[in-house]
Amino acid sequence: MVKICCLGAGYVGGPTMAVIALKCPSIEVVVVDISVARISAWNSDQLPIYEPGLDDVVKQCRGRNLFFSTDLEKHVSEADIIFVSVNTPTKTRGLGAGKAADLTYWESAARMIADVAKSDKIVVEKSTVPVKTAEAIEKILTHNSRGINFQILSNPEFLAEGTAIQDLFQPDRVLIGGRETPEGQKAVRALKDVYANWVPEDRILTTNLWSAELSKLAANAFLAQRISSVNAISALCEATGANVAEVAFSVGKDTRIGPKFLNASVGFGGSCFQKDILNLVYICECNGLPEVANYWKQVIKINDYQKSRFVNRVVSSMFNTVAGKKIAVLGFAFKKDTGDTRETPAIDVCKGLLGDKAKISIYDPQVTEDQIQRDLAMNKFDWDHPIHLQPMSPTAVKQVTVTWDAYEATKGAHGVCILTEWDEFKSLDYKKIYDNMQKPAFVFDGRNVVDPEKLREIGFIVYSIGKPLDP
Ligand code: NAD
Repeated sequence: MVKICCLGAGYVGGPTMAVIALKCPSIEVVVVDISVARISAWNSDQLPIYEPGLDDVVKQCRGRNLFFSTDLEKHVSEADIIFVSVNTPTKTRGLGAGKAADLTYWESAARMIADVAKSDKIVVEKSTVPVKTAEAIEKILTHNSRGINFQILSNPEFLAEGTAIQDLFQPDRVLIGGRETPEGQKAVRALKDVYANWVPEDRILTTNLWSAELSKLAANAFLAQRISSVNAISALCEATGANVAEVAFSVGKDTRIGPKFLNASVGFGGSCFQKDILNLVYICECNGLPEVANYWKQVIKINDYQKSRFVNRVVSSMFNTVAGKKIAVLGFAFKKDTGDTRETPAIDVCKGLLGDKAKISIYDPQVTEDQIQRDLAMNKFDWDHPIHLQPMSPTAVKQVTVTWDAYEATKGAHGVCILTEWDEFKSLDYKKIYDNMQKPAFVFDGRNVVDPEKLREIGFIVYSIGKPLDP
């Protein structure tokens, strides 16, 4: 029986391994993590992450051929294939601070693998890493190998949170990069055999190691670039009376462009887009390509601009101050169908409003009060000027309440900001919300989920990203 071990039981490691276990009943899959709390949650009925369809997959194979454990050394030493899916955040200090990937977790994982391995291993980069990381990992492993053969593969993950299970069941492609040596190609075939249990052969792509590593950074940069492109156009729409939905529809009809990822919004978030573009920027700078670095930097600058533009619009619409006014925030997660709040635009928007002394009442169906308070109290890391800004003052944090109901959050509010595109926000009883708000009542739709005309008929003053403003 082939044995797989995955280091890192997070948003990628957990769902990916659950799907491998489901699709490959003859493979034993053990997911290990240094976090005891995360592993006990994976072994309970309350999984540590919310992802549609995940509960069902885990229930079908946990205890059969899928296991979650904190005994890293045992399971690494017994595995044939070791996936490493640990976090690779942006470095916050030292060389490359604010841009470069922090590979501390990766390095300690690699050293541990080298220490405990007693037989040949295939080590798979599942985390998103800078191009050429495999070379560094190879050095760590081979210099500590005691005669054991390690083959490094790059197998970046392209799933999106909120649709992870669907993406894993039917991936657009699975990418495997390996060394062009006979041993490297043998390792590529072994990993290909795992995916071939459910992924059609023409969707399994094999490349050299560096192409696979760089493809993941490039894919995230292209996706984020589309969002920044449409968001840049949304600002021009507001200035000219064009409607971004109509422009995006027309642009997307061009088959060379396509319709996906063209929704204007308050900005992109999540743990990957910003971090991976910053990483790309840093790699370009290190390779003597400052112009290319500047090109990609602009994608993040437009994203920051979009968030501050939104805050300015809220404040200027409400007679240039929100001091003492209650603002309801609907949605805090960085997108719908996830409870993940990493780099969510809601953090910057709330901080901007709190800076103008608003009182904020937040509702999100999947994010807890603890999480929101933690996010708002955290130091914001400024990537452009890598210094830690002051944390929110305790008084500002007290200006925030969290409710478990959209109607409660909006009661007595002067304005509503919609910051996540949860489906339930489309079908709220906006008449009831209007009746219970201060007048004039404002709606600022940061995700374009409501029909502005219908809300205007009720009496709201409505701002939708990139759409014509109230007459
Ligand atoms: P995460 O923070 O949810 O999970 C990482 C886990 O690794 C944590 O539970 C942490 O405790 C664990 N860990 C750290 N060091 C460890 C070690 N030495 N041994 C064992 N466990 C260790 O992160 P994530 O969102 O799953 O992302 C993981 C990687 O995948 C990142 O490189 C990310 O860029 C990439 N990725 C993420 C997504 C996404 O949507 N979240 C999609 C594609 C790729």
